[in-house]
Amino acid sequence: MRHFIVLLVLLGVCEGAKFGQLCSGNPTNQRRTSDKWGMGHYGAPRGSTRKHKGLDIKCQDGSEVYAPFDVELVRKVIVYNDPKKAAINNGIQLEGEGLCFKLFYVKPDKTSGRVKKGKKIGVMLQMQKVYPGITSHVHVQMCDGTNPTPYF
Ligand code: ZN
Repeated sequence: MRHFIVLLVLLGVCEGAKFGQLCSGNPTNQRRTSDKWGMGHYGAPRGSTRKHKGLDIKCQDGSEVYAPFDVELVRKVIVYNDPKKAAINNGIQLEGEGLCFKLFYVKPDKTSGRVKKGKKIGVMLQMQKVYPGITSHVHVQMCDGTNPTPYF
């Protein structure tokens, strides 16, 4: 039995941090699947050479965005260099549950300090203005570039 428990811990079954609700209107963190602009899973193709480095969680423009755990706000994130994408060129880097991660397309209320799980940290930006017809979403990206999907 003890070996079995050790195995579960090694597999991350017992201690996996799970993201709480990220966006108002999406209590189960439903993911963006596929739309005319692409797919939302980690590793999805982006053009011929790049890959999607995060996981996209559905979030309608203007929705409130919540802290998925008790978190520390680390800094503001600039998503794009392209001025045509200025409407959604904002995000925030967070730490919580031992994880460092970034949320893209969010206008943060503030960029330092601590916030309790479920409290508002910002507002979903107007993604339809830049990508008409896309499934509007918060992009979740781990700071080390690894796959965030196991945390959902
Ligand atoms: Zn994304």
